[in-house]
Amino acid sequence: MRLCVIAGDGIGREVTEVAVDVLTALLPDLQMSEHEAGWDTFCRTGSALPEATLASARDCKAVLFGAVSSPARKVAGYRSPIVALRRALDCYANLRPTRSLPLAGGRADLDLLIVRENTEDLYIGEEHSDGETATAIKRITRHASMRVAEVAFELAARRARQRLSIIHKANILPLTDGLFRDAARTVAETYPQVAVDELLVDTAALRLVQAPQAFDVLLAPNLYGDILSDLAAGLNGGLGLAPSLSVGQGVAIAEPVHGSAPDIAGQGRANPVAALLSVAMLLRHHWQLPGKADALESAIRQLLSDGIATADLGGTASTRAFGRAVLARLAH
Ligand code: ATP
Repeated sequence: MRLCVIAGDGIGREVTEVAVDVLTALLPDLQMSEHEAGWDTFCRTGSALPEATLASARDCKAVLFGAVSSPARKVAGYRSPIVALRRALDCYANLRPTRSLPLAGGRADLDLLIVRENTEDLYIGEEHSDGETATAIKRITRHASMRVAEVAFELAARRARQRLSIIHKANILPLTDGLFRDAARTVAETYPQVAVDELLVDTAALRLVQAPQAFDVLLAPNLYGDILSDLAAGLNGGLGLAPSLSVGQGVAIAEPVHGSAPDIAGQGRANPVAALLSVAMLLRHHWQLPGKADALESAIRQLLSDGIATADLGGTASTRAFGRAVLARLAH
């Protein structure tokens, strides 16, 4: 088994260091190769995703991606490396679960999964501007919508509640979001056991705040899925706890939902749980090692329920100290 490790920028480096140590303990034979990507890499080399990094990711078919910084303004030649990587590996579905964790004052009733389309929508990055008028292309294809819907329905069919909500804004965007909705409805016909409803994205945001326990699987185009998953993370202890796995045909990228968090980078305050839970998803879904995934998830749960946590959760543990505590639990 092989893994391409891309630590990236800011706290990506700190959480990846912990995740690599934990993976080494869980899978001593795993061959890991570290490669660079991100803003620092772009500033040094002129490419945010160097060819050697991409080649290793393709070769290993499994990637651990920390986080990268992206400039908020257009910079000539810069393309978001994670968006480029997902497209290059054709990791077309992004799985973003939100499950209650044992946090003081936290909700105990959350168990939802956002399945986000990962290759198109506004993320194709086709923007044009003459300085007065700026336009971005939102591209939705039946092909991409059908295949992400297949993943979402397959996962919904395996869950206890077997419910799926299609998220769109087809009242305003009947051609693009209408196509996404119709493709999902077509796939739904082959999963009669899954109860389906559909929600406008604004209504979904409202209900996620008011009654998140009512949701099981949410299937969303790229941008809505990104926004709703940050909202869902906010219901469950914040971005430091939100994992994700991008999947394609026999290839996967474990990537915490959070970014490079420059405000806390380099201080040892980053919560590594999002990265560790992303690793657990890689173990479970990609490498088919549910026992190892269970062991890692249960170590994290035990630590959180014992009040061992980083500063974002009100704790005093540093990133590395939390990592050492996970290793100690796993060693038992
Ligand atoms: P980027 O531009 O790379 O997306 P950002 O700072 O805009 O970075 P995030 O990195 O996603 O956005 O995070 C927003 C805020 O949430 C951070 O500034 C930080 O305070 C907090 N945060 C995110 N991830 C973590 C984490 N793992 N541990 C602790 N706090 C975090």
